[in-house]
Amino acid sequence: MNVTDREFALELDKNDPLAHFKSQFVVTDPEMCYLDGNSLGRIPKATITAVNDFMVEWGAEVVTGWSHWVDEAQPTGDLLGEAALGAGPGQVLVCDTTSVNFYQLCLAAIHARPGRKTIITDAANFPTDRYILDGIAKQFGLNLVIIDNEDPAIATHERITTQVLAPYLNDDVTLVTLEIIQYRSGARTDIKAITEQVRAIGGLVVWDASHAVGAIELNLDANGVDLCVGCTYKYGNSGPGSPAWLYVSKRVQKELQVPIQGWFAQDAQFEMGPVFERAQNIRGFQIASPSLVGIRCVQSAFSMIKAAGIDAIAHKAAVGTQMMIDLYDAWLAPLGIELNTSRDAKERGGHISLVHPDAAQICLALREISNVIPDYRTPNSIRLAISPLPTSYIEVWDGFARMRDLVASGQYKTVKEGGSRVT
Ligand SMILES: *Cc1c(COP(=O)(O)O)cnc(C)c1O
Repeated sequence: MNVTDREFALELDKNDPLAHFKSQFVVTDPEMCYLDGNSLGRIPKATITAVNDFMVEWGAEVVTGWSHWVDEAQPTGDLLGEAALGAGPGQVLVCDTTSVNFYQLCLAAIHARPGRKTIITDAANFPTDRYILDGIAKQFGLNLVIIDNEDPAIATHERITTQVLAPYLNDDVTLVTLEIIQYRSGARTDIKAITEQVRAIGGLVVWDASHAVGAIELNLDANGVDLCVGCTYKYGNSGPGSPAWLYVSKRVQKELQVPIQGWFAQDAQFEMGPVFERAQNIRGFQIASPSLVGIRCVQSAFSMIKAAGIDAIAHKAAVGTQMMIDLYDAWLAPLGIELNTSRDAKERGGHISLVHPDAAQICLALREISNVIPDYRTPNSIRLAISPLPTSYIEVWDGFARMRDLVASGQYKTVKEGGSRVT
């Protein structure tokens, strides 16, 4: 059977061991092709119950609830770590935002290497990471080196490999920080090889897994990763603004000190003593009171990921993105659209990136005319994802067929630019 036959996708769904998960998510419009799970996942039905249950719990327990709420960042971190990160217990916290956790771990890494003054990242990195690094460099008089792997005019990219990184490394490097999957191009980095390479020159790596967690296997323990952060609302399906997570390997927990010394990191927290003495375990990386509502959303969503198994999830992401690339070759390449993501499944995650000068208008028209939800990234990228639990293969196939018709007919040119600040 050919990939361009609709049967092809229906057959994949029929044999998909994860197919039944789709019915565990809220889908209000069954005709919609939701291909933006890499930006915001769908809501699990179990989350509605979990949040309501928490409201009842809060009402009944009021302040006494803190006796068990107080440490929920840790078991929720353990759950997330086991389900999606390949992380043993006691190394993950669910807390704050990716941006805050990123700042915390980057400065902890920098201060663990006194005297060294160089930070390395890449131009393709997510804006918040680059802006925070710029601020850190200014605040502490450090030298921020940005590997120029992206031409902003055309959004092409270069994967960061050990060969690309090697010329930048020397004994002044304190921190290297990269995305595990580049947000725009979808390129995946070899975390094991790069962590080892940077360790060999005495530096530390902080990985940002936001576009990877819940889509691919990360095996942070087995890959020897020291530090990693990520969000929970993309492939993690935990909801807009749900708390993020941080991973600190047991190997480096004692040696690192985060800059914000909050009371949740205090060893004898409720003695409320005059001097800060950091807890020597993962709690030493927590700032403050956990967001319980958000944490319950993370628990229900990552319980589903655990039940599905991250290997099965990663497999579906690989097969789904392969189908996208095959459909792209058959239908979209002839229309002048370019592919900006690797054809090797080991070098990508759950989304692919297509490039066209009219990308903004195509994305708007996909929403307004075709009932397909893509994701536009300036200046010319169309990102399309398969979020393995809530997305079916046929949903992806139909989305691509509608995109082919929209672009081939030129109908997309009839829509006017939208007025939202968000793209
Ligand atoms: C989505 C994403 C973030 C988001 O940061 P917030 O603090 O949650 O707003 C950060 N970094 C990367 C790489 C992302 O993909």
